[in-house]
Amino acid sequence: MQYISTRGGMSPKKFSEILLGGLAPDGGLVVPDQYPQLSADDLKALAGKSYTELAFAIISRFVDDIPAADLKALIDKTYTKAVFGTDDITPLTRLEDDLFIQQLSNGPTLAFKDMAMQLLGNLFEYVLNRAGEEINIVGATSGDTGSAAEYAMRGKKGVRVFMLSPYGKMSPFQRAQMFTLQDENIFNISVNNMFDACQDMVKAVNNDAAFKAKYKIGAVNSINWGRVVAQVVYYFKGYFAVAKEVGEPVDFCVPSGNFGNICAAHVARQMGLPIRNLVVATNENDVLDEFFKTGGYHPRGLDQTYETSSPSMDITKASNLERFVFDLTGRDGAKLADLWHTVEKAKGFDLSPADFARMHDEYGFRSDRSTHADRVNSIREVFNKYGVQIDPHTADGYHAAKAHRQVGVKMVIMETALPAKFEATMQEALGNKPAMPAAVADLEKLPQRFDVMDADVQTLKDYVAARAG
Ligand SMILES: *Cc1c(COP(=O)(O)O)cnc(C)c1O
Repeated sequence: MQYISTRGGMSPKKFSEILLGGLAPDGGLVVPDQYPQLSADDLKALAGKSYTELAFAIISRFVDDIPAADLKALIDKTYTKAVFGTDDITPLTRLEDDLFIQQLSNGPTLAFKDMAMQLLGNLFEYVLNRAGEEINIVGATSGDTGSAAEYAMRGKKGVRVFMLSPYGKMSPFQRAQMFTLQDENIFNISVNNMFDACQDMVKAVNNDAAFKAKYKIGAVNSINWGRVVAQVVYYFKGYFAVAKEVGEPVDFCVPSGNFGNICAAHVARQMGLPIRNLVVATNENDVLDEFFKTGGYHPRGLDQTYETSSPSMDITKASNLERFVFDLTGRDGAKLADLWHTVEKAKGFDLSPADFARMHDEYGFRSDRSTHADRVNSIREVFNKYGVQIDPHTADGYHAAKAHRQVGVKMVIMETALPAKFEATMQEALGNKPAMPAAVADLEKLPQRFDVMDADVQTLKDYVAARAG
């Protein structure tokens, strides 16, 4: 298995060589040169396997420069009952005969990002250790991604995390999640400004090539291929959990922002998993809904990004979409480079009528969007009808799943976070506060550790340099 760039400008590389990187050197995204293919017999042999067995069977097909025994040990150490709450790791909740929710949010930060990030932490440590290298991850967060990264990297040898967040702008729970970490390799930097300013500081550090090289600055953003691969596994798990027999078509519905989660579903489908439709759910930030309904991809600016009650989907540029469009348009790097050049220059592109048709007919994509009112109604409906509490993001998924369900075809909605993280919206919908999982119930009472900083790039550089070792 070799990795190439969607824009055709990277010489083929191995998994360990692309794991720590972000964008490919030509600005494209890293993708495998082909998808491993699973036959009907292969699939039958996978049905009934445990999460870790399945994870090894799938991930090992994308990784051929880590010895099998080592990869297996990393996977076994990652997906445990102690970390994810059950032996099933991603158990399913049945709402109706043909309608399910797959639980992806029982990890340490109560959101699906833990599923991939926890493995990434162990992979990073292994690959860095083997090469005798270190990495200093500098990132900005408004809440969810930062905490998932910190819980994945805490205590890992060779890895330090410098995470910027806007001072006083996170919820008390989010703050407690991050700031109560006492690990020596985790640095929480609370910036006297908004999230955008934090992001600009991270960009400025990355634009200083000399500083970046000297202090081995890296990132763990949503375009990391290791994250996508780890996410492929739970689509297989969900499929085998609901399909009566291998071959039965099953639909999946995914609350989406950066298109990372559903991109993994697309990869699973390309490998031969009998997924029928993939339903993309968005909130009012509906750049993806527009793309799948019209064939036009028109990313918007920050001034057109709405703050919604499913905040982790408040994204108007879907970075991982480039991976799907690469497949859709025939895996032609030159063509892709042209298309994304148009995105930058002319604020978007429109698919050809043929590609637009194939996106639905051949690749099975559907989409829908919801508003705040839809979200609140969905939370209420799922609670009243089925006695199940879902968070606002999963509620966007429920809304889209309802719009595209077909009698007789099973539909699995991916749960992307737990209600406990979104108290205000849950209170509005159900009239009381959501239950806090026991493991995090007392988090806000623990001592917190963070440094306050002004939004100044040099101050950040000095801070990192003094601690980067
Ligand atoms: C990150 C996130 C999403 C969006 O996932 P993508 O992979 O970016 O599409 C949806 N819901 C929650 C709760 C998230 O944290």
